[in-house]
Amino acid sequence: MIELSGVEKQFAGQVVVHPLSLTIKEGEFLTLLGPSGCGKTTILRMIAGFEQPTSGQILLDGTDLTSLPPNRRDLNLVFQHYALFPHMTVEDNIAFGLKMKKLPPKEQRKRIDEAVTMTQLTALVKRYPHQLSGGQQQRVAIARAIANKPKVLLLDEPLGALDLQLRKNLQSELKHLQRSLGITFVYVTHDQEEAMMLSDRIVIMNSGKVEQIGTPREIYATPKTLFSATFVGENNIFSLDGRLFAVRPEKLSVERNPEGCKRVGEVMDVLYLGSIHKLVVQLEDEPMTVSVVLDISDERPWTIGEKVGVNWKTENEVVIGP
Ligand code: ATP
Repeated sequence: MIELSGVEKQFAGQVVVHPLSLTIKEGEFLTLLGPSGCGKTTILRMIAGFEQPTSGQILLDGTDLTSLPPNRRDLNLVFQHYALFPHMTVEDNIAFGLKMKKLPPKEQRKRIDEAVTMTQLTALVKRYPHQLSGGQQQRVAIARAIANKPKVLLLDEPLGALDLQLRKNLQSELKHLQRSLGITFVYVTHDQEEAMMLSDRIVIMNSGKVEQIGTPREIYATPKTLFSATFVGENNIFSLDGRLFAVRPEKLSVERNPEGCKRVGEVMDVLYLGSIHKLVVQLEDEPMTVSVVLDISDERPWTIGEKVGVNWKTENEVVIGP
C-alpha cells in the first residue's frame, strides 16, 4: 500500500537515511524502532511530505507521492506534542479539519461523534485543551486525525510525553483502535517494549540504516544483527570460532555442579523481579557477565560468590550475522 523505493535523505551532504526500500501493507501496524537520531522521524516526515527525499520514491496505492504537498496526501500525522488549538473546545479541535475540507455538516457531526466515541472523549467534548490531562489531550489529537478518515495514520512518539501507567493504558487503546478502524498505522518509537506490544511488523533502525524488518516474534527469536539482538530484549552474546551467537536469559540455566556445563562462573548478583529471579553470573574464562532468568518457583537460594555452571541447549543459540 505504501511503498518506499530506494528512499534516501541527506542533510547538508550528510546521509541521515540510507537508501531504504520497504512495503507497508494495508491495515498494517508498522513501527520504526531505534535509538534517538537514527532517522525514524525523518522517514515519517518524508512519508507525510514535510521533507523531500534526496533520492527515491514514495508511492501510496501505486501513486507517486514524492511531488505532492502534505495536504494532498491521504494521510495524517500525530505528534508527541499534540498541537491542539488552545482556544477551541475538544469538539471544535476535532471538527477543524472537517470544516476546512468543507464536508456537509451532517457528515461532520457523524465523524465527530464516531471519533469521540472511539477515543472515549464523549464526556469531555465541551472542554478546552488546558482543562484536559496529557493523556486526554493526546486522545483528542488522535480523534482529530481519525475523523479525517485517512488511509494512513503516521504517529511520531505519540505517547512519549506521558507517564508510564498512562502510556500503558493508551498503548492498549491504540492497538484496539487500529484493529477496529483497519487504518494503516506507521508508528515511531524508541521504546522496544511498546514496539513489541503494538506492531504487526517492526523496522529496526540504527544510524540511518535498517538492521532488520520482521514481526515482533521473528525479531525476538531470530535477531539478524548484533544491534537487533541487544536492542530488543536482553541477550547474552557469546563468540565461538569467530562467530557471534546470542542466547536469551530465559534460555540459560544454572547448575550447582558445573560438570558438563558449557561455561563456568560465579554468581555476582541475584535480583528478585516479582515473577522471576535474575542471576548475573561472571564467567570464569571470559571477561563477560551473563544474565540468567529463573522462574520464581525455582526456590534454590542462590548466594553471591557461589560457583555455578551455566548451560543451555544448542538449539537455543541464535547465530548473529552472515
Ligand atoms: P528522535 O527519536 O530523537 O526523534 P530520530 O530517530 O527520529 O530521533 P531524526 O529526527 O530522523 O531521528 O534525525 C536523524 C538525523 O538527522 C539526526 O542526526 C538529526 O540531527 C538529523 N536531522 C534531522 N532533521 C534535520 C534537519 N532539518 N537538518 C539537519 N539535520 C537534521
